[in-house]
Amino acid sequence: MNRTEHIRAILETVTDPEIPVLTITDMGIVRSIYTPDDDDGPVEIVITPTYSGCPAMNTIEVNIKSALQEAGYSTVRVRTVLSPAWTTAWITEAGRQKLEAYGIAPPLRGTEDKNALFADARPVPCPLCKSTHTEMISQFGSTPCKALYRCNDCLEPFDYFKCH
Ligand SMILES: [Zn+2]
Repeated sequence: MNRTEHIRAILETVTDPEIPVLTITDMGIVRSIYTPDDDDGPVEIVITPTYSGCPAMNTIEVNIKSALQEAGYSTVRVRTVLSPAWTTAWITEAGRQKLEAYGIAPPLRGTEDKNALFADARPVPCPLCKSTHTEMISQFGSTPCKALYRCNDCLEPFDYFKCH
């Protein structure tokens, strides 16, 4: 395993503060890993936040640094890049499956296309019973990235991951 692979493996253990079941690599927010040629040089991690002003991003930066420092990387820089903007299309397939298993409806495919008017009018399937007889109760769920839905078949409320 080379150093970049080692660092990537460590980053795969850093969880997303908003959705602790997902790691930052599941979310697709890790864009690049730069390692120096010499062993003591700084490591740079480039991340793109899931949405601008996300309050979790500072926590992610702290968590990345502490995970890498524990693994012996003494100098770690975390650089935030806002362009191109993160979209839900960057969530990995493993990440989507974890979201659903956690009871959060993963983003509908295609909603990352911001030109698709009324994309969110498509039914969001219930993560529990897969029914599409669901309705949005509130634009805002437990965090700003989620909307609160209710399933009209199993009557369970659930979060829909809406940020894109
Ligand atoms: Zn249901």
